[in-house]
Amino acid sequence: MLGPALDLVLSALEQIRDTSERTPCASRETLNRLFAVTETTPARTSADLLDPIRARVQVCTKCPHLVRSRTQTVFGVGNPDADLMFVGEAPGADEDRQGEPFVGRAGQLLTRIIQTMGFSRSDVYIANVLKCRPDMPSGSPGNRAPTPTEMRTCLPYLREQIEIIQPKVLVALGAVAVEGLLGTRGTMRELRGRWHSFNGTPLMITYHPAYLLRNQSPSEKRKVWEDMLQVLEHLGSNITEKQRTYFL
Ligand code: SF4
Repeated sequence: MLGPALDLVLSALEQIRDTSERTPCASRETLNRLFAVTETTPARTSADLLDPIRARVQVCTKCPHLVRSRTQTVFGVGNPDADLMFVGEAPGADEDRQGEPFVGRAGQLLTRIIQTMGFSRSDVYIANVLKCRPDMPSGSPGNRAPTPTEMRTCLPYLREQIEIIQPKVLVALGAVAVEGLLGTRGTMRELRGRWHSFNGTPLMITYHPAYLLRNQSPSEKRKVWEDMLQVLEHLGSNITEKQRTYFL
């Protein structure tokens, strides 16, 4: 019983933090009581901690225009204790239909990259900055990029996911995801292939797999693979000779 009650308290405090100028505060006595409760409650796993955030995202109405057009929210998928976390910009049509990030053609290529790194999709965590598909005029095919305002509105959810999962490395896929995470716009030529930081977590920036589908040149594919080799090195993975010489 205590777990859900604490979730409600935390959720209310987080809502005050996200939606008002006031920083939530509590007296020392109240905090001591809360700590006493949490000390007698069994430790909760990362999956337990992600559940209430997922529940808040499912009913989130902060962007009314996206609420009207979405089929469902797309929270994230994978290992809640992953060392490696991939972040894209937003769900597309396929993801909106299936409720899972990176399941379309670009997602299949990302899955291949993950497997070539020696992992499966369930070893890593995959999420987007935006949890709802950016709306399109009715009947229009394709997807649009999320706006900076939409990404700023949704970013607190991703921040909470990252705080719980605590990956050793984050990989941002494409310039729009970078803008959502860091709030800065740059060209991929300037950004990719070197280490950045998101709230203290090492962040590697590389091309979005959709870019590789549009641009099949071996040199662009090799760039992404070189970025992934840097990630593997940072994770302390054993890199085989075959992996070192691999072209996507
Ligand atoms: S995009 Fe994010 S902030 Fe906007 S409605 Fe969806 S879940 Fe809420």
